Amino acid sequence: MPIIVQKFGGTSVATQEKRDQVAKKVKNVLDQGYQVVVVVSAMGRLGEPYATDTLIKLARGIVNQIGPRELDLLMSCGEIISTVIMVQTLEKHGIKATAFTGGQAGIITEHDFNNARIKEIKPTAILKCLEEGRVAVVAGFQGVTADGEITTLGRGGSDTTGAALGVALKAEVVEIYTDVDGVMTADPRLVPQAKPLEVMTYQELCEMAHLGAKVVHPRAVEIAMEGRIPLKIKSTFSDGEGTLITDGTPIGKIEIRKDRVVTGIAHLAEMALVKIHSETDMNESGKVLQVFEEMAAAKISVDMIQVAPFQISFIITQQLADKATTVLKNLKLQAEIETGFAKVAIVGSGMRGVPGVMAKMVRGLRRLNISIYHSTDSHTNISCLVKQTEMVKALQALHEEFELA
Ligand code: ADP
Ligand code: MG
Repeated sequence: MPIIVQKFGGTSVATQEKRDQVAKKVKNVLDQGYQVVVVVSAMGRLGEPYATDTLIKLARGIVNQIGPRELDLLMSCGEIISTVIMVQTLEKHGIKATAFTGGQAGIITEHDFNNARIKEIKPTAILKCLEEGRVAVVAGFQGVTADGEITTLGRGGSDTTGAALGVALKAEVVEIYTDVDGVMTADPRLVPQAKPLEVMTYQELCEMAHLGAKVVHPRAVEIAMEGRIPLKIKSTFSDGEGTLITDGTPIGKIEIRKDRVVTGIAHLAEMALVKIHSETDMNESGKVLQVFEEMAAAKISVDMIQVAPFQISFIITQQLADKATTVLKNLKLQAEIETGFAKVAIVGSGMRGVPGVMAKMVRGLRRLNISIYHSTDSHTNISCLVKQTEMVKALQALHEEFELA
């Protein structure tokens, strides 16, 4: 029998009404003759009793410091609670189901707490459960080390669990269910005109996710791509087809439009721009190497990097601005760090080699008098740094300029 993996995010399991919708989605594919593995996130957001951030607040309320091992043990609880509540919900709808922690599902990770990488999956218990005609409900975002320590997989980890299980079980498809109708041309919370995409490539989605579209985690997309498992992003609350993610070859009537230069727009808010100047050549003085080595040592991730002999510039998240200031002061460098920026990016596999895309981007921004403070590009994206206060306006301007509505 073919297997389907369905992952339901925090937005889909937050209330009993929503969990009943989840049961309907599961029943649908069971009725079509699939064996089903359900991956769940924790229920709700900060403030709600079983949300991960609520549990962390509870522990930090006693002593702010918490060790990485204990943090993972705590953070794994939200998803475990969610599996049992989901099993109860499925039983209510007449569906037989068994709950699994990540470890019980055979998800073995490296020994790196808080951001563990999956090493291998031993799906024996899951397969046995499916053979018995039961739905396997697996806690997302977690695994276990070879020596039995509970780990978590980092931000967006439930998406990763879903994709990795899909590959290990040779699933026909991995469906990521969320609260929007699929991957949209831009974040619908900021661009109301955004519309769902019917189809896009793994590369495009991966790029959009890296550039800030939080609808799915980039690692999950990479795993599905490497394992050649089709991915679908769908809404728990509607019957739309959602977005099919493929390697670009047409499937039936679904094909990526050849004339599509820009597929979507992504953004990263609250960034800081770092500019380092020097009167002397920083290649020769070794300062270029020192800057990036010291940033790495301080665990500051840098982006939109430009290096020239007398100027280095890059962006970092605003939260790390003070830390970066200290690092650069210690290196005795002349630096300016300005906060209050956002990165807006256009993404599309179709822009490779097409002239005039940057001109169009600048035209769109200029129409609304939006200044560009920094930019970078690759074969499949162009990113511009704008003032945070102009981010939403910029997203809407680009959406219109590239006729994505
Ligand atoms: P889940 O709890 O299901 O994992 P997330 O909050 O992680 O849900 O992701 C869904 C949200 O991602 C949507 O509500 C939407 O606001 C946001 N989002 C950002 N960019 C996009 C995009 N391009 N397409 C769809 N959703 C997007
Ligand atoms: Mg998510």
